[in-house]
Amino acid sequence: MANLSLVTPMAHDVKSGIYGLSNPFDTPERKAFRETIEAFVDTEIRPHAYAWDEAGHVPWELHEKVGALGVFGFGIDEKYGGLGFDDPFMRTDFAVAMAMCGAGGIPAALGGRGISLDPLQKLAHDDIRSRVLPEIISGRKGSSLGITEPGAGSDVANLTSSARKDGDDWILNGSKTFITGGMESDYFVIGARTGGPGLAGVSLFFVEADMPGFTRTPLSKKMGWWASNQATLYFDNMRVPAKNLMGQENYGFIQIMQNFNYERLALVACALGMMKVCLEDSIEWAQERETFGKPLIRHQVIRHKIADMSAKVDAVQSLLWMLCAQIDAGTMPVAEICKAKFFATKSLEFCASEAMQILGGAGYLRGNRIENVYREVKVIAIGGGSEEIMRDLSVRQMGL
Ligand SMILES: Cc1cc2nc3c(=O)[nH]c(=O)nc-3n(C[C@H](O)[C@H](O)[C@H](O)COP(=O)(O)OP(=O)(O)OC[C@H]3O[C@@H](n4cnc5c(N)ncnc54)[C@H](O)[C@@H]3O)c2cc1C
Repeated sequence: MANLSLVTPMAHDVKSGIYGLSNPFDTPERKAFRETIEAFVDTEIRPHAYAWDEAGHVPWELHEKVGALGVFGFGIDEKYGGLGFDDPFMRTDFAVAMAMCGAGGIPAALGGRGISLDPLQKLAHDDIRSRVLPEIISGRKGSSLGITEPGAGSDVANLTSSARKDGDDWILNGSKTFITGGMESDYFVIGARTGGPGLAGVSLFFVEADMPGFTRTPLSKKMGWWASNQATLYFDNMRVPAKNLMGQENYGFIQIMQNFNYERLALVACALGMMKVCLEDSIEWAQERETFGKPLIRHQVIRHKIADMSAKVDAVQSLLWMLCAQIDAGTMPVAEICKAKFFATKSLEFCASEAMQILGGAGYLRGNRIENVYREVKVIAIGGGSEEIMRDLSVRQMGL
């Protein structure tokens, strides 16, 4: 009878050539980067993933160790501590490898800062970006993006947190919720209403946790992503200096929308990593576990489940490579990223369900990757633009 280890992660490497496709856009640099990240995840994260997830926290040193790999610096100028180049393949290889660590809260805790970096570099006053970007990218400090509110999630154009002019300053009032990393971040990029109703009245602000008028409380008892924290932030007559307005007043909505592209690409990669977990751990289990006198893998129903999962992994992987190639060539395929996001999360949902069936009761116990993936399907399907919103947006992007 197979023995599912509950606290020791199962072997990552299923040496059976289950990933037959190779990336036509691979380079020696990308391969070396991928191998470095995979080795890092296997040695530095995977052995601790279960314990950190149960504890609801990752040690801050991990932020700094991951920062030292340079992975927070894609697309960020070297003068701000970044890599000075971008590479969508490396970005997504990082996200795939991290998603396979055994607890999705860990990449969420580390990578939560990622969605605030591009606006900070592009839009923040130079005094601010020169000071904070090196701290965030090195992993010494955390940062978060605060768009979602208790009364506005998908409907970003209707957010109600407000900023009004007072002399040279702004006075910020309102609240944000579900903000990843929000309990530990020192720095925030916040969307607030500075103009009339709708999308033309939204601006972005740089906010610091130690500013008077800022408070936060944790969202606890979540379905997944335990190793990361999500916060509700409150702004009570919070005075924000004029130079903290990011970009042009009332142009925040378009900046928020542009920023979603890389977040969604990363979520596609994350879904792919989770699907690979489903495939790998199902195969390993099906090879070991025997029922009715033979290994599960010899039952045709189980073989077909694995074939279906494998085909979906191939499809999402191929799509992701094509998106990366197009971005690398200089175009952002907005509609295709939206389509890829809901396609990937629906494929993930299928794989998580089938993997759980293959593991049977053992999969239902805490401490194995399938149980974790199963609980974390929905955060990928909802966060960063839900499946419904992604379908809607992709059709609109097609001009329909
Ligand atoms: C763990 C976690 C971490 C998060 N981290 C962050 C973060 O760091 N920063 C941040 O700003 N936000 C964050 N979010 C918020 C996330 O982006 C939102 O949850 C998401 O955008 C959906 O918004 P909502 O939850 O308010 O759902 P709603 O907008 O209320 O939607 C509810 C449901 O209705 C559907 N729906 C809405 N409008 C339509 C429509 N027009 N047609 C059809 N269906 C529709 C949606 O798809 C969804 O299924 C996080 C969320 C979670 C769960």
